[in-house]
Amino acid sequence: MELSNRQEKILSIVKEHGPITGENIAEKLDLTRATLRPDLAILTMAGFLDARPRVGYFFTGKTGTELLTEKIKQYQIHEFQSVPVVVKEDTSVYDAISTMFLEDVGTLFVVDQHACLTGVLSRKDLLRASIGSQDLNAVPVHIIMTRMPNITVCRKDDLLIDVAKQLIVKQIDGIPVIKDTANGLEVIGRITKTTITKVFVELVTEDRI
Ligand code: ADP
Repeated sequence: MELSNRQEKILSIVKEHGPITGENIAEKLDLTRATLRPDLAILTMAGFLDARPRVGYFFTGKTGTELLTEKIKQYQIHEFQSVPVVVKEDTSVYDAISTMFLEDVGTLFVVDQHACLTGVLSRKDLLRASIGSQDLNAVPVHIIMTRMPNITVCRKDDLLIDVAKQLIVKQIDGIPVIKDTANGLEVIGRITKTTITKVFVELVTEDRI
């Protein structure tokens, strides 16, 4: 987060004189309390300052990097997950390849009649199945997919940082977001390496892409 000139000045006043009231900070800057209010609110919300009633503002001692790290560590899956692209177990390898192109994704999730997870198809899984001379219309994806229970999944309240680590440790491109139901693990979203790249850019530009 980029601080304005005035916010930097407020920070150094509080560092030196804290705890200090808003009134006294305003005096030192030759400004009114009302003018200062938005800046104090921003600095408090961002975690640079803490406010105690009847005592005043004091410096939390946290640097911008520490505050950023704290923020990232709190990100949860549901804030960033995208829509999953799924196919049925009896879909042909040919149709799965078409779906991958049409939907512009690198990982397909395979589901049963209850929309519950049974497998995963990566680009390489489909390439491997296409190398031989078999008829791709005749091979159903359940023959070639990576199947349950060997699938890494995540849930909407999991921390994004933990799921990002899984992408690296397991050397995979995507992880389905699932919901536990009586019928199995219902696929409700996906987290991919692209998700993590977007978050990285968003942190710097502060724009949701
Ligand atoms: P690619 O194979 O195209 O490089 P991945 O690295 O995602 O893509 O996949 C590697 C292997 O891991 C594939 O065989 C795929 O079926 C499997 N795989 C992909 N995602 C998962 C997952 N979430 N859990 C378990 N296995 C997975």
